[in-house]
Amino acid sequence: MLKYRDFTRAFEELGLGSHSLIIAHASLAAFGEVAGGVDTVVGSLLSTCGTVIMPAFTYRTMVIPTVGPPDNAIDYGSTDEENLTAEFFRLEMPADAAMGVVAETLRQNSMATRSSHPILSFSGVNAEEALQSQTLEEPLAPIGWLAEYDGDVLLLGVGHTVNTSLHFAEKKAGRKQFIRWALTPQGVVECPDWPGCSDGFQAIASRLEGVVRRVPLGESTAEAIPLRDLIHIAVSWIHEDPRALLCDRLGCERCASVRASVRVE
Ligand SMILES: [Zn+2]
Repeated sequence: MLKYRDFTRAFEELGLGSHSLIIAHASLAAFGEVAGGVDTVVGSLLSTCGTVIMPAFTYRTMVIPTVGPPDNAIDYGSTDEENLTAEFFRLEMPADAAMGVVAETLRQNSMATRSSHPILSFSGVNAEEALQSQTLEEPLAPIGWLAEYDGDVLLLGVGHTVNTSLHFAEKKAGRKQFIRWALTPQGVVECPDWPGCSDGFQAIASRLEGVVRRVPLGESTAEAIPLRDLIHIAVSWIHEDPRALLCDRLGCERCASVRASVRVE
């Protein structure tokens, strides 16, 4: 059974400390049994790293209009039923279950603050400036902020398909972005710069071998990747191959739309 000390030791072995600014993605279940559960993971993260942010995304605020701009990888008017069950974004609403219990526990931490994007909010501790950099037009700006200050991505028992920073790289590489809509108490809000699909992101792993730090942790691993390196490697790859990191799933509308937006000879 993993204990608090196992986590802090792993983070230290990854070179993380009070100087570290991280964006973390975590699966508690991946590690097997953890003494103290999710509080152990969040507590060890906060006691080790100076700044910690995690996604607190709320896809359940999304609504689909009946009409909208073309080439947007969306079936307008298709989900009337989902529109009826969409929730108004509130700053205090829990992150979607898909974000994982670690992200939701960080959001609930008394020291944490949250950004106010109605779908792609982040929560964090000692992260006010990073969180404030987010706007509707630049939903992933907190990642750029962390990169500027030599931050790291920390993957705890998860792979790159949840590595949101790769979406930041896609945008930076000039890849096609989308528009989505969210329900808020002020009405339906248009959310531009909606990222593409992440199902093909694991393909980046082999290109990170020179920069990733990795330690075994329980039944899984913890990995730290310098954001600057990650972004540089992903942007270069997309420039070299505009289809890099797209998925092979048949019927993936966003990946098909990105492919159609680039002409590859
Ligand atoms: Zn896809």
